[in-house]
Amino acid sequence: MRFDFTDEEKAFREEVEDFARTELPPDWDEKALYWPAGYGTFPGIEASFKDMYDELLRKLGRKGWLSLGWPKECGGMNSMTRHVILDDVMSYHRAPGGDVSTAIAAPTLALIASDEMKKEWLPRIAAGELRFWLGYSEPNAGSDLASIKTRADDDGDAFVLNGQKIWSSGAHIADYGWVLAKTDMNAARYRGETLMLVDNRTPGITIRPIINICGIHSFNEVFFDDVRVPKKNVVGQINQGFYCVMLALQYERLFVGMGAFRRVLEELVLYVKETKRQGMTMGKDPLIRNKLAAMAIEIETLYGFYWRTAWMMDRGQAPEPEASALKLFGTELSRRLAGTAMEILGPCGQLERGSKWAPLRGLMNLGYMDSISGAIGAGTSEVQRGIIATRGLGMPRK
Ligand SMILES: Cc1cc2nc3c(=O)[nH]c(=O)nc-3n(C[C@H](O)[C@H](O)[C@H](O)COP(=O)(O)OP(=O)(O)OC[C@H]3O[C@@H](n4cnc5c(N)ncnc54)[C@H](O)[C@@H]3O)c2cc1C
Repeated sequence: MRFDFTDEEKAFREEVEDFARTELPPDWDEKALYWPAGYGTFPGIEASFKDMYDELLRKLGRKGWLSLGWPKECGGMNSMTRHVILDDVMSYHRAPGGDVSTAIAAPTLALIASDEMKKEWLPRIAAGELRFWLGYSEPNAGSDLASIKTRADDDGDAFVLNGQKIWSSGAHIADYGWVLAKTDMNAARYRGETLMLVDNRTPGITIRPIINICGIHSFNEVFFDDVRVPKKNVVGQINQGFYCVMLALQYERLFVGMGAFRRVLEELVLYVKETKRQGMTMGKDPLIRNKLAAMAIEIETLYGFYWRTAWMMDRGQAPEPEASALKLFGTELSRRLAGTAMEILGPCGQLERGSKWAPLRGLMNLGYMDSISGAIGAGTSEVQRGIIATRGLGMPRK
């Protein structure tokens, strides 16, 4: 099958390219790293980028680009293809083209929230005014979200939250949590949980930093101590939260930052063309050429998954195993690309940003460490393989 874009989509890509060239600070490339399918190096969750990032989101909002994939009746353009074009171009420039609020929470709200809730939240998200964090994982519940212990007890017009979340990316710079909690302690597995929006400013919330392997504050632990959440903040139906989260995860698995793969490959190709080792230009070494060609083929293959998943969504189809395949292949490729980069750069590749001897400004070293996390966040590779096997290929569970 061959994919192509309409003339409007091609013109849109040009417009986004122009935007990235004019709106990003001139020294941006020296500062930020958006490693493909990474989390820790996504500039949106580094506190030092917060002001610049918020401003960029608002600019994207003014363009109407934060709601491209949402249904028209919710103020969007109903074009997931345009959404991923934006993601592709912006990530090539190592800049975010959206975040948890715009790419995960909003499309889920558009599908399952009440009309009042859509009216209250979607316009502000589309304008780039609100940022969310995802409150799913707990110390003993990551892959198995049916085992969460955070409880939300009914107290009239509010729920009262008690418990702990962990690995909460960006909670320290967000406005609201997108939190899964137990509302019926006696219900069967998957049936007693509710998804709700929790204002970070509510009394009883404590957010503690966890520094990731890259030395960046991306994760947090979040503690809830008698935190009151108005019932109007429930997303979807009470006790149906598990299914709402499964839907939201499909959106989360779509955004692998495709352009960042191209960018890394281009930088490596340029590096081997310009660098001599043992008297020979590295780009002439057949082993190195082979490694880079293999990466180029894998990246093209991943683009196939990427465009196809967006195309399916534009036709109203739910790409469940397809989103898992994209996420699995993308995050595993991210590791292979990082490994290839480190092999090519040799021992100096381990030098950190700031060292004058670090090749490619130390970005590959950072990316190598970050690439480990992609295959864990948003559902591990093993879990994705399980979904592909059972839901995609119809294989038996045992
Ligand atoms: C960079 C990053 C960002 C994250 N951001 C967030 C966030 O913002 N919010 C949030 O809530 N969470 C976040 N997480 C947490 C993430 O969702 C969990 O780490 C992940 O779901 C795995 O859960 P776990 O760590 O509890 O491991 P476990 O679930 O304990 O898994 C341990 C091992 O067992 C395997 N395993 C488990 N179940 C199965 C199964 N059914 N079949 C086969 N193998 C299985 C796993 O693949 C893994 O290898 C983030 C994680 C990372 C790495």
